[in-house]
Amino acid sequence: MNPRVLVVEDNEQNMYLLSFILEKSGYEVLQARSGTEGIELASRTKPTIILLDIQLPGMDGYEVARRLKARPETGDIPIVAVTSYAMLGDRERALEAGCTGYIEKPINPETFVAQIEEHMPHNRGHGGDAS
Ligand code: MN
Repeated sequence: MNPRVLVVEDNEQNMYLLSFILEKSGYEVLQARSGTEGIELASRTKPTIILLDIQLPGMDGYEVARRLKARPETGDIPIVAVTSYAMLGDRERALEAGCTGYIEKPINPETFVAQIEEHMPHNRGHGGDAS
């Protein structure tokens, strides 16, 4: 089974681009357009990793990350924050909220998948994957 990536993103263009790149790289993509939907989908489907936009309507990505981390069924899933606001302190806030990684928009299609794969559970403790 292909690894599943849950993308939580409210912007259609970004959602399309992220999904396109991930699917081209062999990932199954699950889409959520709000934090509430993302938490519900994560609990139900247990994705391999979650890509989380920080600027979401209603509940922001920091709060979504905190709630995901607080739930036993989603607490172990790595979360990579994706944000366009390269503001000082954003990375720290994301990590404090429980994210394992941080990617700035605009994403670089050439390096994006590798950036995410750094945070995949199967890469932990390996000095590089031969596959
Ligand atoms: Mn957004």
